[in-house]
Amino acid sequence: MNFTRKNTKPIANSRGGNVDRRQTQKKKESTLDPKLFEKKAKPSGQQGFRTEKSFEDLQLSPKVLQNILAKGYQTLTTIQEQSIVPLLEGRDMMAISKTGSGKTAAFLIPIIEHALKDPKNYTALVVTPTRELALQIEEEFKSLTSGLQLYSATFIGGTNINSDPAKLSRKLQVIVGTPGRLLDLSDRKVLDLRKVNTLVLDEFDRMLDMGFVHDVNKLVNRIGTRNQTLLFSATLEPAQKKLIDGLLNNPVEVKVDSGSGTNENIEQQTIRVPEGKDKFEVLEGLFQDPEMEKVILFTETKRLADRLAKKLNQSGIKSGQIHGDKSQNFRNRMIDEFKSGTIRVLVATDVAARGIDVADVSHVINYQRPMTMDAYIHRIGRTGRAGKVGHAITFVN
Ligand code: ADP
Ligand code: MG
Repeated sequence: MNFTRKNTKPIANSRGGNVDRRQTQKKKESTLDPKLFEKKAKPSGQQGFRTEKSFEDLQLSPKVLQNILAKGYQTLTTIQEQSIVPLLEGRDMMAISKTGSGKTAAFLIPIIEHALKDPKNYTALVVTPTRELALQIEEEFKSLTSGLQLYSATFIGGTNINSDPAKLSRKLQVIVGTPGRLLDLSDRKVLDLRKVNTLVLDEFDRMLDMGFVHDVNKLVNRIGTRNQTLLFSATLEPAQKKLIDGLLNNPVEVKVDSGSGTNENIEQQTIRVPEGKDKFEVLEGLFQDPEMEKVILFTETKRLADRLAKKLNQSGIKSGQIHGDKSQNFRNRMIDEFKSGTIRVLVATDVAARGIDVADVSHVINYQRPMTMDAYIHRIGRTGRAGKVGHAITFVN
């Protein structure tokens, strides 16, 4: 991973002086060099994904082991190999590992073992930047704890808050949620954050950026003393070092294959729209390739996401869209339809860039250059997951 990243901040296109109105009203253009989006995949496949170490070697509770094996996990991934043991020992951790490398189980398995030791007094809080990611983490927790009588619930915006207190009336070992809703429940005194023993910030660099840090600080202050704090992401923001240090107590730092940031299993290419040719037609043409089976198409704006989904459907390419203006029910339905293959294309804003794990996404397409390298890394990380090969195509012009 390159920690001295350049170009992470968009540069305004107006340089003062005689800028005409049309130009100032235009959406900012990414200034990232198109060359950054070209890279042949060096697929190391399952080899780079899995280690030789088997879950049997970890001395987990028999039922947990059984659930892990039932999910088809045989050997640990690299991040799992490096983090599970120190987490079982109770250490704090900051872990950086590529998209799709199994970070969720890396933090959930130790949480489950701690919870089993003292289920009445154990609470882990997992905080995520998006609702979909929160739901997905709880789903993984449920599958790993099947038959264990450990309980979890997810608290996210866009859902009826009046149904949350009932969920909190029973002892929950794992609470997953997005910051706004968690704070809301804490304000209403139905969620007692002081009981949290383990705090996880998934996608922590996002959780600590300007959009979330205020809420996260509030949550952290209300939690107060805790046993463990875990930070997981694929990317690291050097400017956050102080914040990170303030959250962690004598942490273990794990950085897996700190190379380029992007996952080697993803083949990355760019497309330049020939002059006089319509960009949408070029996009549409791509779908003649039957290999473009399950595609996430990223756009910078919600409006464009709506428009592209509509136009693709009109062209007979089954598409749906996901962005912040859609109801949570709609968003969930789109993810389900995308997973099941009812729709071939999910047109998305960055709300779907982080954490979302849909099996076998064949391609990620950026309809415009993303504004930052981190946004790019996370977006294309929706493909090439779990040791599979993926493709990323970025429109540049
Ligand atoms: P990350 O958070 O690093 O992006 P995830 O935790 O979402 O990655 O995991 C990516 C995919 O890999 C998921 O589909 C998950 O079920 C799968 N996975 C995780 N651990 C293993 C393992 N040990 N063996 C096989 N597959 C795994
Ligand atoms: Mg993740």
